[in-house]
Amino acid sequence: MFETKYALKGIIVQTPVFDKIEFHENEYVICEDGKSVGIFKELPEEYKDIKVYDYSDKFIIPGMSDIHVHAPQYGFRGMGMLLDGDSEWETWFERYSFPEESKFCDLNYANLAYSRFVNDLVKTTTTTRAAIFATIHREATELLMRKLADAGMAGYVGKLNMDRNSHYGYQETTEETIRETERWINETSEGYGSIKPIITPRYTPTCTDESMEALGKMATKYNVPVMSHLSEGLDEIEWVKSMKPEISCYGDAYDMYDMLGTTVPSLMAHVVHPTDIEYELLKKRNVTVAHCPASNMNAAGGVCRVLDMVRDGIKVGLGTDVAGSCTLSVMRAMTDAIQASKLRWVFTERNGEPFAKKHFLSVANAFYLATMGGGQFFGKVGCFEKDYEFDAVVLDDEDLKDFIDRPATDRFQRILWNHHARTIMVKYVQGKKIYDRDRDQQNY
Ligand code: FE
Repeated sequence: MFETKYALKGIIVQTPVFDKIEFHENEYVICEDGKSVGIFKELPEEYKDIKVYDYSDKFIIPGMSDIHVHAPQYGFRGMGMLLDGDSEWETWFERYSFPEESKFCDLNYANLAYSRFVNDLVKTTTTTRAAIFATIHREATELLMRKLADAGMAGYVGKLNMDRNSHYGYQETTEETIRETERWINETSEGYGSIKPIITPRYTPTCTDESMEALGKMATKYNVPVMSHLSEGLDEIEWVKSMKPEISCYGDAYDMYDMLGTTVPSLMAHVVHPTDIEYELLKKRNVTVAHCPASNMNAAGGVCRVLDMVRDGIKVGLGTDVAGSCTLSVMRAMTDAIQASKLRWVFTERNGEPFAKKHFLSVANAFYLATMGGGQFFGKVGCFEKDYEFDAVVLDDEDLKDFIDRPATDRFQRILWNHHARTIMVKYVQGKKIYDRDRDQQNY
């Protein structure tokens, strides 16, 4: 049994709203029954005798959410970022993604690869929640869910659906994809702790109309959310158009099957190239956009209009999209998002104007996306306001320091850009400590 009531003391950082980052130095955040009670300068009378973990001069941040990551691609992260010659993005699937993912039909291989993934995810400086793509294999997907649950993580895992346009034997029949998905939902909706199933058609080109229709009905019937990819690349959008000439935009290919946030919440990765029609549709639907800046840059795809989306009321969080990117760090996704938004501004609004008004993501904005923006997909997750789930990470910047006494705001930025494996001290998910740097020599 773990402690149900305690406080952490340190430099508490959070962004309950998009434009403002709060630093609470030498203050307390209280956890009670897995939820936050709030941030306090002094312990309130009724909590004055609770156990206090003193992390003075360390940073305490809300856990971050990685809302788009492919667990079976973790093994080849950092490869294929630049393919040779005249190869196209699709070749990345041919050379790396499909051959690797097809190996997860072997449970021994899945066990090795997913053990490594979960172990490393738990140790990240950032992630307490994740929305994770698995493969088409039901048993390996359940193995991943069990490992994540046993490690104390929270979030969603999706068994992929692919019943066309794949290779290497890595494809199901339509009948199989429907049958296996329904069985998997029934087997995993209870009993895997805080790891829940999410319906995951890989994307429109790999799923027939018949399977999409069945998946949409399953989402409604079992009240299971949906995730997929949307408007990532220009060539992909043309491909979808050629497959479904009757639709008004790519998003329609999900919306027509109730998988774009009508009956259940929907999580769509990328949305780099929404048409005006698609953008208006997203504003009306319960969709969260997973902004994956590193992946979009590696694919030479473009930069999502994150600031516009947030201002227009579209929900946005951050994804690493491993192995479209090379790291599970959501802090790296934050700094990538900031840098990508600056380049987007340079080549659009600024357009050579020396005194153009600056319009790109701030640290506060990016921290909000990493915590609150993605966190809302999992419930009340992403800050330490009262009744939010207590996901927290304690960060130690001792070995990043120089010889000047710098303010907490500067030190925090330095952590974002320079964190490494020892920066994390402790991680809590739903009030339970799941990692302690000085206790765990990590073997899950
Ligand atoms: Fe992806």
